[in-house]
Amino acid sequence: MTPRLPPSDAAAPDVRRRRCLRWLAAAPLATGPLAGVPARAAVKTSARIVIAGSGLGGIAVANRLARELDGARITIVDRKEEHNYQPGYTLVATGVWTADRVRGRNADYLPAGVEWVRDMVAAFDPVAKVVVTAAGQRIAYDFLVVATGLHLDYAQIEGMDVAAIGRQGLASVYPGPQAAQATWAAMQAFAATGGDAVMTLPATPLKCAGAPLKMTFMLRDRVREAGTLDRSRIVFHTALGNVFGVKVVNDNVVERWKALGVGVEYTHKLVAVDVGARRATFASPEGERSEVRYDFLHVVPPMRAPDAVKASELAWREGPFAAGGWLEVDKGTLQHRRFPEVFGIGDINGTPRGKTAATVKKSAPIVAHNLAAVLSGRAPDAIFDGYTSCPLIVREGSAMLIEFDYEGRLTPTLPGVDPLQESYLAWLMKHRMLKPAYVAVLKGRV
Ligand SMILES: Cc1cc2nc3c(=O)[nH]c(=O)nc-3n(C[C@H](O)[C@H](O)[C@H](O)COP(=O)(O)OP(=O)(O)OC[C@H]3O[C@@H](n4cnc5c(N)ncnc54)[C@H](O)[C@@H]3O)c2cc1C
Repeated sequence: MTPRLPPSDAAAPDVRRRRCLRWLAAAPLATGPLAGVPARAAVKTSARIVIAGSGLGGIAVANRLARELDGARITIVDRKEEHNYQPGYTLVATGVWTADRVRGRNADYLPAGVEWVRDMVAAFDPVAKVVVTAAGQRIAYDFLVVATGLHLDYAQIEGMDVAAIGRQGLASVYPGPQAAQATWAAMQAFAATGGDAVMTLPATPLKCAGAPLKMTFMLRDRVREAGTLDRSRIVFHTALGNVFGVKVVNDNVVERWKALGVGVEYTHKLVAVDVGARRATFASPEGERSEVRYDFLHVVPPMRAPDAVKASELAWREGPFAAGGWLEVDKGTLQHRRFPEVFGIGDINGTPRGKTAATVKKSAPIVAHNLAAVLSGRAPDAIFDGYTSCPLIVREGSAMLIEFDYEGRLTPTLPGVDPLQESYLAWLMKHRMLKPAYVAVLKGRV
């Protein structure tokens, strides 16, 4: 059945606005207490805590620990000075926002009293409880929080040139604000003429697995607006047997694309690009290669743990997360399975799902709480359920708010809103509410 618009979209604007405000007030994404994390007084300690990575997860945990621990010596290690609001990249890459809206400074969010080492961790030595920076500084710790995010492995795609994004129909929303803006330039050029658009999806775990789908929906809509649909063909090439890991969402999206004329090629993994000739090469699981000519190509790179984590004792050694070198944490407590003084937060975690900012929102209080528990000689008792959230934009002004847990069960938080139906409210969440919520998470306030 073709998904239908919810009643909220059909209502009069003032009724719609009132309904939205009521829903937003109730939505855990916007505000609200966190379940499963008992409140406690600040714990007195002189422990040395190192946080590797000053992205969303690292800063969120730093703010919480600075408040919840009295006397801890906290050091955060990351060379990056700019703080990027990554969930806004898809809005930049599709012409809804300008790039300045996703740019900020880490210095504005780090708590007072935390030492910031402007360098990268080159090596983790969890046996000696030391991290070594690229410049050779050795930093000893009693507790370590790994928050390095993930590595975009464009190098696995032969011929791929990140610097060429925006030219010759080459697009990719991931590397940063500039690439997102350049992707919008490529999308506009394509929409003006129409032609063959090739969208891609690798087989690895992804941050915001909905982003490749949002880019596809929005490309199709921009082409429709430009009046070049009849001259265009959009095909989504997935390296997997599906386009999204949660079956009901996958089926819903595929059904929508069928109605919109978007094709899907399964088990087609992007392995090479000839940027000048506009040719993409795909490989099947059996290694059979096929070439496709394109006018617009959206590259989603394979993703893995950064080298420093992948090469360390901290990475999974066996099982589904070993190949990507993901951090070996317990999926409930987010404590390392072999080194109890180590915790993981955010995209680096080798867990079944959960590589979104919304995941960090729900798990940062759990990590801070469990670290404080272990520090006090108690067992970690707060449990993360894998909460992952993805506002799936289907066109400008409309989205589906997909929320789910480790088991792939839908866990909707907006009262009265069917997650599988598009709504103006879900769009409003993405467009207006998520950035303030993100900043509140960074500051450790929600
Ligand atoms: C296009 C796109 C769309 C998205 N859309 C959404 C969305 O709609 N909703 C949502 O909830 N989430 C979304 N996300 C996902 C969300 O942005 C991430 O899940 C979140 O930022 C993860 O936080 P993190 O702290 O784990 O990693 P990051 O925020 O990426 O930070 C990692 C930090 O670690 C640092 N680092 C790396 N290696 C080292 C090292 N060796 N030593 C020290 N520091 C290191 C990096 O410099 C970086 O500052 C999207 C992401 C993208 C790219």
